[in-house]
Amino acid sequence: MKNILVLHTGGTISMQADMEGKVTTNHENPMNHVSVPLNGIHVTALDIFNLPSPYMTPEHMLTLYQTIKEKATQYDGVVITHGTDTLEETAYFLDTMELPAIPVVLTGAMRSSNELGSDGVYNYLNALRVASHDKAKDKGVLVVMNDEIHAAKYVTKTHTTNVGTFQTPTHGPLGLVMKHEILYFKNAEPRVRFDLEQISGLVPIIPTYAGMKTELLDILDSQNLDGLIIEAFGAGNLPKEVADKLTDFLEAGIPIALVSRCFNGIAEPVYAYDGGGVDLHQKGIFFVKELNAPKARLKLLIALNAGLQGEQLREYMEG
Ligand code: ASP
Repeated sequence: MKNILVLHTGGTISMQADMEGKVTTNHENPMNHVSVPLNGIHVTALDIFNLPSPYMTPEHMLTLYQTIKEKATQYDGVVITHGTDTLEETAYFLDTMELPAIPVVLTGAMRSSNELGSDGVYNYLNALRVASHDKAKDKGVLVVMNDEIHAAKYVTKTHTTNVGTFQTPTHGPLGLVMKHEILYFKNAEPRVRFDLEQISGLVPIIPTYAGMKTELLDILDSQNLDGLIIEAFGAGNLPKEVADKLTDFLEAGIPIALVSRCFNGIAEPVYAYDGGGVDLHQKGIFFVKELNAPKARLKLLIALNAGLQGEQLREYMEG
């Protein structure tokens, strides 16, 4: 018998549509009424939050981590149900924490529990299957949606409503949930993990667009900033004026990390014009590999809360 801890956090998977089709948060979570027709799995469920996932914060993510850490010895695996809007951020956050070596699987739904073709129960049962499978143990935090298993580091929501919304650009999924089997074709990569007791700090994300000058950066108060994420163009380039303005933040001791706004590929210092990647890297901006901007933001926030500074911070952010 596998004992699985289920932590419900809210999201569409626990919501219902009304007569007009408007989706609302329930007082009673429909996932608690799913009878689990899976042999050999015993579920203990806890409604830890009941949040639409746009309300999810790093503090909530830390509470999830601490709850898993505290209860893990009693369970063989953990399933977290979550709103899909920020699911990838919670998955990445947890994947960066020192979790015990049991499977931790996040899932959600794109259609609420009483909508036609609702995917909630299906994804939930698949997540339970994956979390109770020994092969999931050394794969890091996993996201199971629409019969696919994705690594927390790479997975992202790609469609507003489609049930196949979760994709892993560049790499593809880690595995598949089949009718009778669970198949993995890749292993998780080694990573640095932290054991945080608290998380705080202001690390906003700045997007880029043609014709951008310093208008967004001008409204930031460097006194209140702990770090900055820039979602740069292409291989990692910025308009000259933006690059110049970032120098002021760097001189004020604000760490700045850069990712590309491209959906696929990795930012790297290639272009040597003013504002090009080579210039930005020389100025001291970190080039973050293989993370989108929201995950790079969590990475910097976690690193700062873990006390990383100087070369150690650079090595972690660029590693
Ligand atoms: N807005 C919802 C949420 O993230 C979307 C979902 O769960 O699919 O809570």
